Amino acid sequence: MAIKPARVSVELHYNCPQCNEEYTITIEESKIPGFSIKCCSESYLVQPVDKVNIKLTFDKLCSPNTEKDIIKSAFRVLSDYQYTKKEVKDFVRNKYYACHQQLVRDFLSAK
Ligand SMILES: [Zn+2]
Repeated sequence: MAIKPARVSVELHYNCPQCNEEYTITIEESKIPGFSIKCCSESYLVQPVDKVNIKLTFDKLCSPNTEKDIIKSAFRVLSDYQYTKKEVKDFVRNKYYACHQQLVRDFLSAK
């Protein structure tokens, strides 16, 4: 059984307008009245963030497989696109794939 994340954490990144140095704070910190970032002998108030909306979309689960099985399953899909087993094998050389979906996606985006 695969478990889904119980919560997502977000951090806010602000850049110094002068030197572009990045500062990371939490949403809670951004809400503190007068919260500021000090950089380049200046003090910059941060724009508070009220709410962040995040929509999670889940990827398909990979079931652990041997490389041979992964190539076989990927080829089953890719043969519909007229690719040969040799092309798939050559593509996989020196790469690691945990599942055939990932291999198919990479193979097709490389073509
Ligand atoms: Zn700065």
